[in-house]
Amino acid sequence: MDVVAPTNTTLDHIAQVVLSADTICVCGHVNPDGDCIGSVLALASALRSLNKHVYPLCVENVDQNRSFQDLPGSEHLIKPSGLSLAPELFISVDVSNDERLGTAADTKASASHSITIDHHVVEGVDADLAYIVPSAPSTTMLIWDLIEALGVERTKEIATCCFFGLMTDTGGFRHANSSKEAFEYAAAMVERGANAHMLSDAFFQRRSFASVKLEERLIERIHLFCDDRAALSFVTQADLDALGATKADCEPLIDVLRSLDGVKISCILKAFDGAVRGSLRSKDGIDVNAIARKLGGGGHKLASGFTLDCPLENAIVQVERLIEDACN
Ligand code: 5GP
Ligand code: MN
Repeated sequence: MDVVAPTNTTLDHIAQVVLSADTICVCGHVNPDGDCIGSVLALASALRSLNKHVYPLCVENVDQNRSFQDLPGSEHLIKPSGLSLAPELFISVDVSNDERLGTAADTKASASHSITIDHHVVEGVDADLAYIVPSAPSTTMLIWDLIEALGVERTKEIATCCFFGLMTDTGGFRHANSSKEAFEYAAAMVERGANAHMLSDAFFQRRSFASVKLEERLIERIHLFCDDRAALSFVTQADLDALGATKADCEPLIDVLRSLDGVKISCILKAFDGAVRGSLRSKDGIDVNAIARKLGGGGHKLASGFTLDCPLENAIVQVERLIEDACN
């Protein structure tokens, strides 16, 4: 796992800065996923054991995702609006830019110092200190190393949160980022008490019936193009309303498209709240991050996302055109 630009520090230096601060915010990105929540909770737990005043922020309500609620320490999560003080230090995990911090960007602006620890491909960062490792399968692996650099014992609680991030960002150790190091870190986390089976069940085996019904609608609308090498489908707010489904119920849907034999690029569009959120996945090395960037989004080479401020019909045309360019 190699650090890349715009990294300007080391984990040891970050540890020194953290140890000298007293009030610390730890925050992940909007539309929080398992890696970002796992990173926030693991680092917050380590900071509490150092007797820091720690404020783990969650930019959006986690109530929708039951498996996040079960993670140890999730009861400490607060919304940015619930925090009235200006922290000494603001640590962004799994996110490097203010626009992905949502309302927490104001809290960050009020902090004296800021640090980002991330594994996304980024051009620039909005932080004083940056530690960026795109080859890391999860941000929780970087947090695992930082906690060691802090000299804090990696407890069962920390191991559980870090394993959860690693498990979810590797798709249950099945995606291309399931490297030897991913398994080595996973083994260390299991050794410290992470229960792989329980965490896997909690995340992958708890779909609501509404989510399965949503999948039915998604399947009906699959559009195969680029000689069946690309698949796109969508769900809308009307679908959620009709089925009593939540946004979290949409999370497993992209895997249906990705699992299709021969499909190299898959895309799901979710038309909610007047905007269209897209998720892109690549199966054979085609860089979907490049597509997401053209749409104002970003992420990883093989898994990226974006948000478009236009009607669904326009979004479909725009996205399919870019996918066609990438396929050819
Ligand atoms: P998902 O499709 O699961 O929402 O996101 C896939 C990956 O892309 C995640 O690592 C996520 O953090 C990142 N991502 C999703 N949407 C955006 C976006 O709008 N901008 C950036 N920079 N990254 C995104
Ligand atoms: Mn991540």
